[in-house]
Amino acid sequence: MVASEQDHAGLAGGTASGPAAMRRANLSLVLRELRAHAVLSRADIAEATGLHRATVSNLVAELLDRQLVREVGVERVGAVGRPRRAVALHGAHLGVLGMELNVDYIAVRGTDLSGRSALVERRVVFDAMAGGPDRALRRLGMVAREAVEAMRRAGADPAGIAVAVPGLVDVARGVVTYAPNLDWRDIPLADRLLSALGGDRVPVTVDNDANLSALAEYLSGVAAGTPDLVYLTGEVGVGGGIVSHGRLLRGADGFSGEVGHLPVDPSGDRCGCGRSGCWETKVGLAALVRAAMPEQAYGLYGVPVPDPEERVTEIIRGLAAGDPQMLEAVAQVGRWLGLGGSILANLFNPRVIVVGGYFASLAAWLLPYAQEELERLVVAGSAARCRFVASEFGFGAASRGAAIVAVNQLIDDPTRLLDPPGRPRRR
Ligand SMILES: [Zn+2]
Repeated sequence: MVASEQDHAGLAGGTASGPAAMRRANLSLVLRELRAHAVLSRADIAEATGLHRATVSNLVAELLDRQLVREVGVERVGAVGRPRRAVALHGAHLGVLGMELNVDYIAVRGTDLSGRSALVERRVVFDAMAGGPDRALRRLGMVAREAVEAMRRAGADPAGIAVAVPGLVDVARGVVTYAPNLDWRDIPLADRLLSALGGDRVPVTVDNDANLSALAEYLSGVAAGTPDLVYLTGEVGVGGGIVSHGRLLRGADGFSGEVGHLPVDPSGDRCGCGRSGCWETKVGLAALVRAAMPEQAYGLYGVPVPDPEERVTEIIRGLAAGDPQMLEAVAQVGRWLGLGGSILANLFNPRVIVVGGYFASLAAWLLPYAQEELERLVVAGSAARCRFVASEFGFGAASRGAAIVAVNQLIDDPTRLLDPPGRPRRR
């Protein structure tokens, strides 16, 4: 079982027990086997799951009826074997949306149930701070509605949405508890997005952006399959998602990974969280812009960086041209990145620290400094073998992770799709 299924397992089911819970668990089991093996006969499924053949036939019939699986013709077992009809995961008519609301953009990725290719992929540059949460949520709702329409045009009905946000999230309630860089407290994002969607009663999940990015990297990214990894968002804020032994580490309240607020320099600059000298005041995008372009007032506490992407492009141009001030700025930020990375390496012993956002855009300049500093400071030294690696998902890691989570939730509880409200349940 992959991390995401375990992490979100508690959300889907409620406390039902007895035949309904059994049916849900068995349907999920069949779908997971199919996802893992692509094509299976009913006999294969019975053998793999330990379920009775007749039960498997009933479950598959139900899944066929709702087009969550499809018949894939006849599979012959051996030269003289009896021909067997096999089935595969289908769900091309069902879509999920993975969204990310960040300080300066909204990203969306829509896939079908197979999760393989994007039906919708879009990033909207947007200042989420201006106008407060109401305006940001209206815009998020608008982007979601447009994506749902695009998905419908591609032939997929919306079946689930997950939203990544840069902050602390009460995942079970879909509430953003605290997002310092958005200046949000206790925002019921899931409910608000649902009402913005009007008639579409689609389940909405909310989670932390770094957690979702870490899942995306672990399941399909540059460090896919590395069971111990840390993901760092490189935005205005810096968040961390920690995968340990193949599972997302959430902590007692789900708030682990707030690495951007590690107090690395108590006499340092004021942070968006109100404290001083947090790690993100050293390595966040605002810190880099301030060091690279000190003649501008950008990035000081309370002064947002305008068009952050434009600034990153400007810095890349300067670095390529050998601008000494900019080279010094990335060296300085890179060393702070390595210092914080060494704390994470000491704590979690990851094999890889995947960096996203602007860290990835500037990886060629930043990471050599970061790697050197990490190796100098980590207590296990070379024995720890922890490498900084740039994400290849650009700004799309969190929305990708969100889409994966939305698919996993449907596979964890297919009765959401089989028994939508108002549709009489089979059997
Ligand atoms: Zn802070």
